[in-house]
Amino acid sequence: MKLLIVDDEIEICDFLKSFFEERNYEVKAASSGQAALTAVEQFKPQVVLLDIKMPVMDGIQVLGAVKKKFPRTKVIMVTALETRDKIEECLRLGADNYITKPLSLEYLENDVREKIESLAGSNTS
Ligand SMILES: [Mg+2]
Repeated sequence: MKLLIVDDEIEICDFLKSFFEERNYEVKAASSGQAALTAVEQFKPQVVLLDIKMPVMDGIQVLGAVKKKFPRTKVIMVTALETRDKIEECLRLGADNYITKPLSLEYLENDVREKIESLAGSNTS
């Protein structure tokens, strides 16, 4: 179970990394869009938790690039107070779900597990 956490707030990365590591996930974190793309290439996560609002390269750009190259990678968008337009754009670009901050960890963990299980039965990408 490989999970990549992407957020420009380091504390959120650290917190979520610990949370999922305690639950036996293999976790990497990236604090920028560019670092996220490198991590997706090298680490090949099954699920990416992707913050929308980041400087330079935002989550929407990262989402587009990830889905283009690795369409089977599940991407869950993490949003603060995004507009409906932005969320719709993410879904159009192939986002598999979105959750809003403040995060419900129980919901988040269930969703990550569900995404990984949905990959388990099918061929690898
Ligand atoms: Mg952010």
